[in-house]
Amino acid sequence: MSKCLNDLEDKICLVDAAAKGDLPADRKCLPTPKTYKEKVLDSAVQVPEKLQPIFCHITKIFIEKNLNTTAYAGPYTERVPENDIPGSIAFKHSGWMIGLSEKNLFLSGWGLNEFLVRKDLTLFGRDLNSEIPKEFPRIEIFKNGKSDEALFLYDVLMHEIGHLVDMSNEIIDFDPSPCLDPEFNWIPNCKPISTGVFSTISWGEDGQHRSDVKFFDRPLCFYGDCRHEPLWYSMSLDQADSFYQELIQNGHFVSTYAPMSPREDFAESFAYYFLLKDPATEWTITFPSGNQKISMGKGSKNGVDRQGILAKLNFIDWLMKAELKFENPYLGTRYMADNSPTPVEIQPRGCR
Ligand SMILES: [Zn+2]
Repeated sequence: MSKCLNDLEDKICLVDAAAKGDLPADRKCLPTPKTYKEKVLDSAVQVPEKLQPIFCHITKIFIEKNLNTTAYAGPYTERVPENDIPGSIAFKHSGWMIGLSEKNLFLSGWGLNEFLVRKDLTLFGRDLNSEIPKEFPRIEIFKNGKSDEALFLYDVLMHEIGHLVDMSNEIIDFDPSPCLDPEFNWIPNCKPISTGVFSTISWGEDGQHRSDVKFFDRPLCFYGDCRHEPLWYSMSLDQADSFYQELIQNGHFVSTYAPMSPREDFAESFAYYFLLKDPATEWTITFPSGNQKISMGKGSKNGVDRQGILAKLNFIDWLMKAELKFENPYLGTRYMADNSPTPVEIQPRGCR
């Protein structure tokens, strides 16, 4: 076992939602069930050795009692009142944090495939817990024929570690700051700036899909969370088949979530890279209405032949042979005018 896992158990902490204006770090740990800690540790030991040092740089893994999405990752930020200066309050980033939803990851009993279909149904205006319509297409990932809770947690953990690897190594260099107003609300129709080798596979410098790879005609609305962008789009169920056919034909995104932003594209591709590397993994899309099942990836006899996806998996393959950083590059003290919202609002959140 890597040395970075030695104290991981002590970093796992069940918490209530942060009160308005509080930082995630301000919360007290509630008594955390041993089974939750065991599940996280079981997933963490499966993280490839090359990535194990990330656990030394993770300050806390929060298990969130009130998180309606699945997970998030970002800088762990603490107040340092002794560094306050008149008119401004001081913070420091002291590592990374990951948040996991208690409800969806530890209490739901969902396997990975059940989660994937439920999450996609939120694009169609459904609640995560609503009944799954029997004609709805399904993206499925099986490992040795199974798609259980453990695979779900592992996939989510690898996605979040993907975000941390991205931020530690500044891979995406996605800068949303020109699009946030002083209250940290998204400015409608604003285009953030995106550069970096990985993003050029599917994204322009304006942070939008490149015109030749454009997936779907409107931004998608997962989890019913469209507050930043009034034009975000919930579909009706009769659009489901064509939506997934378009995903297959587009050939650039490993999942329906990847087209959301360059950062999500990287995190999704990263998680899929490790799932698909395993020859025991099978990756398919099923269309019940046409009685059709399509193989999507390695581990099937077809292999990945979609150029955009392949380029991303090859990039991550190269990355895993390169020297990686794991430290939060934003360490150090920062100041905010004391009438501003806390930096909690600008941390990545609500993703999976
Ligand atoms: Zn994410």
